[in-house]
Amino acid sequence: MYEGVVQDLIDELGRLPGVGPKSAQRIAFHLLTADPADVTRLSEVLAEVKAKVRFCERCGNVAQAELCRICADPRRDQTAICVIEEPKDVVAVERTREFRGTYHVLGGAISPMDGIGPDDLRITELMTRLADGTVTEVIIATDPNIQGEATATFLSRLLKDMGIRITRLASGLPVGGDLEYADEITLGRAFEGRRVVNV
Ligand code: ZN
Repeated sequence: MYEGVVQDLIDELGRLPGVGPKSAQRIAFHLLTADPADVTRLSEVLAEVKAKVRFCERCGNVAQAELCRICADPRRDQTAICVIEEPKDVVAVERTREFRGTYHVLGGAISPMDGIGPDDLRITELMTRLADGTVTEVIIATDPNIQGEATATFLSRLLKDMGIRITRLASGLPVGGDLEYADEITLGRAFEGRRVVNV
């Protein structure tokens, strides 16, 4: 235990995902000895990100305006939607350069053990986007793990009678993993080899 504000800093850092007590302590001491200008820049960007960044009203991706950069881009193919779990997955798929459509961020995956059901995800918003018939393909790119598979199955069943081509990324992605950890070649191939879901 350290005194006052140093311990407060360690506690706050320790609340971040993936930062254990030891890392929190290491980061805290790094900051204590860092150049004041570097620390100021970090604190400014933290404040700025909370003040300026929000979520796209259409797809749920991070955005700096009502619509994210991708939804606002008229060159993106409006007939295809790639459904992913988190905004970070947008980055992973964009890196492959295989997809020119738009995205829909669910905000997680179905996980009964964590008390997350379909109603907790942005599925109603997805159905609203599909209602006018513009979209002809939905690519389900949830993570290749149990929760991602459960979510993909749920969505496939929900969408099956809408006359939309429903596809799922090809196998070859590391099972049990997270989409963001797949390298862009593997993810790109999985995208290219996506198959139509039959339920
Ligand atoms: Zn968007």
